[in-house]
Amino acid sequence: MTTFPVAKIRVDFPILAEKIRGKDLVYLDNAASCQKPNAVIDAISNVYRHEYANIHRGVHTLSVRATDKFEAAREKVQRFINAASSKEIIFVRGATEAVNLIAQTYGRANIKAGDEIVITAMEHHSNIVPWQMLCEQTGAVLKVAPMNTQGELIYDAFEALLNDKTKLVAVVHMSNALGTINPVKKMIDAAHAKGIPVMLDGAQAIPHMAVDVQALDCDFYVFSGHKLYGPSGIGVLYGKQALLEAMPPYQGGGDMIKTVTFEKSQYAGLPHKFEAGTPSIADVIGLGAAIDYLHDIGMEAIAAYEAELLDYATEKASQIKGLRIIGEAAEKGAILSFVLDRIHPHDIGTMLDSLGIAIRAGHHCAMPVMDFYGVPATARASFAMYNTKEEIDVLMAGITNLIEVFG
Ligand code: PMP
Repeated sequence: MTTFPVAKIRVDFPILAEKIRGKDLVYLDNAASCQKPNAVIDAISNVYRHEYANIHRGVHTLSVRATDKFEAAREKVQRFINAASSKEIIFVRGATEAVNLIAQTYGRANIKAGDEIVITAMEHHSNIVPWQMLCEQTGAVLKVAPMNTQGELIYDAFEALLNDKTKLVAVVHMSNALGTINPVKKMIDAAHAKGIPVMLDGAQAIPHMAVDVQALDCDFYVFSGHKLYGPSGIGVLYGKQALLEAMPPYQGGGDMIKTVTFEKSQYAGLPHKFEAGTPSIADVIGLGAAIDYLHDIGMEAIAAYEAELLDYATEKASQIKGLRIIGEAAEKGAILSFVLDRIHPHDIGTMLDSLGIAIRAGHHCAMPVMDFYGVPATARASFAMYNTKEEIDVLMAGITNLIEVFG
């Protein structure tokens, strides 16, 4: 066991002290959304108490203060993912909005009838539906790289899909339904060798590992703040500067223009060209606070600790008769999806809730993954840096008890 300071971290998350149905909360629904440390809660509260005004347009002190904090958060994101410039960091509502933005700007400008977009069999709906919409609008074709029963991408089949017609690869970095971590560097290199840009859906990967967009050389990287211990309603689109500069804007409105006349408007430069309207000011600053908090702990330390948690949970789960783990990739993040014989995942979720344990039951916005495994839904325990082996023991005892009573 590493000396990861989990006890100290837990104190920073006030909600972890909640009692649920009279029991200590065991929060294992982190892949859906993470809880927030005091650093984030206080940062947001501090904005509204001392720093709040609309940004970018004011000369008064509060507006300057809010603008400085907002732009400082952009630089924190830039450093966190090692982007070359803060101009490459676009604030959006979340990963979903970022994918839609790319589809409707880059996609509409560059993808035509007969062109192909390659995704994988393990995508979240938010990296399927926007491309289907683009295909309907343009006549492009969506191609799906298959996976094996462990939930791993069949790499050769992926590479075989790349051809002259492929105009974009859009791939999940880490699957929310299975935990699979894709070999994204290899995929990016293969796509680039054929001149194809690559977008990574980093919604799940970002809280679990150090991400370096320059080392990966991805063209776009998208994620949501709420899965990174930050606020909901805020997310990030990273794009290489040259690509973003060549893309048309997404939405029109205030803040994204240089000049407006009734005849013609001139757009602002990056990053503001893609940030029409008043943004979620306090939440951007809150995301910056989350990044500072994570930086102090260190993403490598978090990844190592969570790997221990996943190994422990997998081993314990494997010992439970009647439990089937869904998703057994060799490269896997801290997610344990499972089904039980004769007990529906929704019943598992409800019964664990009565013990104070929060897991998710459902299709996890990945219906094609459920179809692949022939299950309507799975139960999913997803771990964060504040979870402990003791909590995993509570989960496993709850599951064992369930099987004894209902299985
Ligand atoms: N991609 C993946 C892999 C996800 O897990 C999620 C959230 N469940 C999303 C995209 C969408 O994120 P959001 O709902 O925050 O936009």
